[in-house]
Amino acid sequence: MILGSTGSIGTQALDVIRSHRDEFEVVALSAGTNQDLLARQASEFGVAPERARCAGDDSRILEEFASLDDVDVVLNAVVGFAGLPATIATLRAGKRLALANKESLIAGGPVVAKVRDSGGGEIVPVDSEHSAVYQCLRSGASSEVSKIVLTASGGPFRGRSREDLAGVTIKEALNHPTWSMGPKITIDSSTLINKGLEVIEAHELFGVSYDQIEVVVHPQSIIHSMVEFQDGATIAQLSMPDMRLPIGLALGAPERLDQAFGSLDWASLSELTFMEPDRDAFPALDLAYAAGRAGGSAPATLSGANEVAVEAFLNGRISWISIADIVGEVLNLGTGNISEVEDVLEADRVARERAERVLQTSF
Ligand code: MG
Repeated sequence: MILGSTGSIGTQALDVIRSHRDEFEVVALSAGTNQDLLARQASEFGVAPERARCAGDDSRILEEFASLDDVDVVLNAVVGFAGLPATIATLRAGKRLALANKESLIAGGPVVAKVRDSGGGEIVPVDSEHSAVYQCLRSGASSEVSKIVLTASGGPFRGRSREDLAGVTIKEALNHPTWSMGPKITIDSSTLINKGLEVIEAHELFGVSYDQIEVVVHPQSIIHSMVEFQDGATIAQLSMPDMRLPIGLALGAPERLDQAFGSLDWASLSELTFMEPDRDAFPALDLAYAAGRAGGSAPATLSGANEVAVEAFLNGRISWISIADIVGEVLNLGTGNISEVEDVLEADRVARERAERVLQTSF
């Protein structure tokens, strides 16, 4: 079943399923607001009308769908924190969670881990970097891992200084050089907070410490991430930047799809380059490391404040550089502990309220 079927990940997932009809059956679909497309998808994939609903942010529908008896895999491609109830319900029901909604794992880390362990479910990442790590980890035991290296394209503003970024427009920020994605994650990629969120995601998924997670900018987006083992061997996963590969793997793992969505052409791939991220121009990356290390409600605060700031930027209320500034200010207002789902919801609510207040008073 697919939650968020009309978005970028959802439509690409249906594309994968369309070419693998013998292996996968769609039994339920939920979308945000795009009723027309949802109805067309339901009819194409033979999904009963009562199982194709525009859920918006209605957590009851997401939870109900995630717990359906005849569902084996839930692809959670809801945008942002609204994906949390589905993440929890899927794991509680002991199903496979193909996770494209990183915010739910980041905000709810300790709670999600608890539900996963007690419910018997599993998380298979859809995020391309984490899918790459998942694949690289097949090369050795987890006790042999010395570090995870997450690659970042650097987004549309790679190479620009902080002063140079003061006046960038919404259109420029939405113009990602290598990946075609929804607006929220595209803006997150431009500030590098997406990479910071992915650092937290890697910590939660693979149980490695923050000191063992490194970020390297790799503009071509061909190497999707790497794992270095204790003997110095680095295993990397390379493929064209196409989300259908990680989506297909998350649906069918440990088996791979029998069809490739594009393959590498080594003759035209003239170079693969790497550089350090510019931590001054893109302070959101270190904000995420700090929030991850602080733990408790700090990652939920980071993510919630960021959602408010990104929306304000997309609505023309604040400048691009203010996004990270607002997130930093909200984190400075303090964070607490998390032990139950209610604590996560409360941390998110407080973060949003504070972000709104900060942006009204200082920006
Ligand atoms: Mg990613």
